[in-house]
Amino acid sequence: MAYSENTRNNYKAVLEEIRENGLFKEERYICSPQDADIVVEYPSGAPQKEVINMCANNYLGLSSHPEVVKAAHEGLDARGYGMSSVRFICGTQDIHRELENKLTKFLETEDTVLFPSCMDANAGVFEAVFDDRDVLIADRLVHASIIDGMRLCSALNESFKHSDMKHLERKLETYQDARYRCIVTDGVFSMDGDTAKLDEICDLAEKYDAMVFVDDSHSSGFLGKRGKGTHEHKGVLGRIDIITTTLGKALGGASGGCVSGRSEIVEMCRQKARPYLFSNAMPPVVVAAANKVIDIITETTERRDKLEENTKFWRAGLEQAGFDLVDGDTPIVPVMLYNAKLSQDMSRDLYELGIYAIGFFFPVVPQGKARIRTQISAAHERHHLEKALDAFIQVGKKYDILGKGKKEIIEMFGM
Ligand SMILES: *Cc1c(COP(=O)(O)O)cnc(C)c1O
Repeated sequence: MAYSENTRNNYKAVLEEIRENGLFKEERYICSPQDADIVVEYPSGAPQKEVINMCANNYLGLSSHPEVVKAAHEGLDARGYGMSSVRFICGTQDIHRELENKLTKFLETEDTVLFPSCMDANAGVFEAVFDDRDVLIADRLVHASIIDGMRLCSALNESFKHSDMKHLERKLETYQDARYRCIVTDGVFSMDGDTAKLDEICDLAEKYDAMVFVDDSHSSGFLGKRGKGTHEHKGVLGRIDIITTTLGKALGGASGGCVSGRSEIVEMCRQKARPYLFSNAMPPVVVAAANKVIDIITETTERRDKLEENTKFWRAGLEQAGFDLVDGDTPIVPVMLYNAKLSQDMSRDLYELGIYAIGFFFPVVPQGKARIRTQISAAHERHHLEKALDAFIQVGKKYDILGKGKKEIIEMFGM
């Protein structure tokens, strides 16, 4: 027998070790649409409970917005359920191209190509555009999907210390003989919520003749005065050669991603990117709703403005209470706890108090950097945030971590 008892037991031991180390991730069942208030069944089989969601990527509150849901229904009626094809065979509808054009306009790029997800966009773009004559120089904290995409590409994989411009400059100098250099970064880093120094990165790119790649999944739709993303926020619209982003976060939250940027690069993706060529086209219902999302955020900045206000309120509240936060100005507000078990215990206590906020620990963040990553949404009203703040303070008091910094928390709980 190929899958022997021995094999089975080996895997069981690995899983048991994950559990013993407090690193086991449990699923919690949401029995309602995604929103500020959600209904959760946790643990499995327990009575359902309404809680405030403090950890969704639903930044603009569009995941269950009535106009978006209506557009999805209309798209379903007008263009059907599935494409049963990849894009280049018979999987491209007029609404797919409409969405690409809207994204191009919104992001202020030259052209855009959709992918089934941003993970797929990142998996496909590097291999399609670069080869072994090139070097990719990535920030060391880029998203896992970028690391995977770079690995699939024969270009030299290099890195620079997180947001360290001096180190990046040294790497750019080192590789002046390569055909192309490409600086690779997230716009907003998902775990800490900090933003890339895109202005400085673009200047270095000019000085050392390099391209710039930005994954803006955690900023498209709300960062910058018109919500275009990190490139708007940092004043470098039009200077980013390759942007990848997701439709699975602020932009409706269903699924889909894209590569947007220089028109030749986008065309190279259509010709060569494997997830584009070999994975199914985005479903019409999602495309139709995403078209509506872009319309909504183009017409008014109301939602991103509310998100900004909510974020300021939330960050100030946690800070005043004495939590150890990561500095930043994005709706990602990590409450640092360092210890994996503490992050899970606090998460459970918060749930008891009606607040849904998940502990993050290895391998999602490095060992010893466990946290509860809170994320603010335009769907939150002031009463949601006030109730959540009360609960955080109550739980913070229970573990006696208010006013304590990294060193003290680690002394109390270990890493
Ligand atoms: C969420 C995320 C992705 C993955 O997006 P999907 O569309 O869900 O595959 C890629 N990159 C970054 C930076 C992300 O935060």
